[in-house]
Amino acid sequence: MAQLQEVSAKEDAVPVTLAFGDGIGPEIMRASLKVLLAAGANISIEPIDIGERAYLAGNTAGIEPRAWDSLRRTKVFYKAPITTPQGGGFKSLNVTVRKSLGLFANVRPCAAYAPFVATKHPAMDVVIVRENEEDLYAGIEHRQTDEVYQCLKLISRPGCEKIVRYAFEYAKTQDRKKVTCFTKDNIMKLTDGLFHKVFDEIAAEYPEIENEHWIVDIGAAKLADTPEVFDVLVMPNLYGDVLSDIAAQIAGSVGLAPSANIGEHCAMFEAIHGSAPRRAGQDVANPSGLLLAGVMMMVHIGQREVAERVHNAWLKAIEDGIHTYDIFKDGISAQKVGTMAFTDAVIARLGEKPTSLQPVSYNTNAKPFVVPQATKRPRAKKVLVGIDVFVHSNGDVEQLATDMQKAANHLYELSMITNRGVKVWPDGLPETFCTDHWRCRYLAKPEKQFNKAMIVELLKNLASDGVDFIKTEHLFTFDGEAGYSLGQGQ
Ligand code: NAD
Repeated sequence: MAQLQEVSAKEDAVPVTLAFGDGIGPEIMRASLKVLLAAGANISIEPIDIGERAYLAGNTAGIEPRAWDSLRRTKVFYKAPITTPQGGGFKSLNVTVRKSLGLFANVRPCAAYAPFVATKHPAMDVVIVRENEEDLYAGIEHRQTDEVYQCLKLISRPGCEKIVRYAFEYAKTQDRKKVTCFTKDNIMKLTDGLFHKVFDEIAAEYPEIENEHWIVDIGAAKLADTPEVFDVLVMPNLYGDVLSDIAAQIAGSVGLAPSANIGEHCAMFEAIHGSAPRRAGQDVANPSGLLLAGVMMMVHIGQREVAERVHNAWLKAIEDGIHTYDIFKDGISAQKVGTMAFTDAVIARLGEKPTSLQPVSYNTNAKPFVVPQATKRPRAKKVLVGIDVFVHSNGDVEQLATDMQKAANHLYELSMITNRGVKVWPDGLPETFCTDHWRCRYLAKPEKQFNKAMIVELLKNLASDGVDFIKTEHLFTFDGEAGYSLGQGQ
């Protein structure tokens, strides 16, 4: 491409790895690049092949192996949407790239552009900062019995510290007033509890920024109903995945929303929508999400003036009613345009600012903030106090309790049996529905210490008694605090 050669000729150009993607990807990427270059973006482009072609060439992760060299060299990835082929065996490229490059923060600004883009929430202007690497997305799943499957939810203190501090630093540098945390720590007291606890600790370091915590269910309801009361939102991976799409949609359209994936070493910028294959090759797709992701990329690489010029020209085009089909509304829009006509309309407005919508200003003197790192903490005093043994059994709970007690020796005792977390022994309720998956908790007797040799002994006894144990979890205290939850009803 002539344009690409032209930019790569500049000596001080910032190298950017770029993927044209699938479906509408190539059209909206060409459009976005055209605007960025017209605004003076000083970048040199290294195209890589990802997505459908890479998948079908046998790379199950959807990325050709040598693309990693480019990504690790440039550390900046501008990515158009890709198509994930139907059927099993194909891994999500996004998850692979995010996790492989340590892109722990997913940042999604969701703003309304009322009255020019229809929305029920004209004052909405929220930024969702989603943790991007942990939670249920560790992808560690097992089938354990005939009836029960498990997905591990992993939350780490360094993961929480990095994302929460990122949210506060983002708020500070972007002049945002409040950071809100969503978790479900009334139920998941250890995992979401840690996220909330770290939020409270770090919030205290930013007294100038208001902070609050909501339980995610009622918080999500409030976000869908009254988004204007929120500013920056920070949350674990799964909640952030779901709520950022909802937030983008209620702001106006998923077609307008950009996303940045930021790590300590690398960053990736993309639209939040997919490759919309049915719209491909027709010059109708809205390039706005990818273009605004390009604006975030320009800020990231320090070309703030370019970012500001592009963003303001884009706002002006939206305000002038130059709309692609997805946001076009009779009575509001002035002209329905295709991808390239919209692109040219933005380019024609470079240097202009919107007059009704709020112009943006990417303070050219602002320092890009340093991506936060987790603090190293001393190791806690960890004491083994018991073990949960999970058993596959179709039998009666009283019989199971008898079998499990038999395997215990005088050093520890069976303290409870739960089924899907609910205590069913001792003193269970006959109404509780039970599956074939039981958790049997052994605790060290008072004054005794559990040790790993005792666990081996216990499991040997269970094996020789024919108990079908399928996994164990050690119970520890950390500096005297229990590192495990109680059974429901315990
Ligand atoms: P999609 O977001 O691609 O499209 C859904 C619908 O939204 C489209 O049919 C279209 O009507 C509209 N739309 C989306 N983007 C638009 C735009 N820029 N302009 C105008 N209209 C637009 O979702 P999908 O159909 O569920 O997924 C299609 C493919 O995209 C799948 O293979 C999926 O795996 C992939 N996908 C990729 C990414 C990514 O690369 N980041 C994200 C989501 C989905």
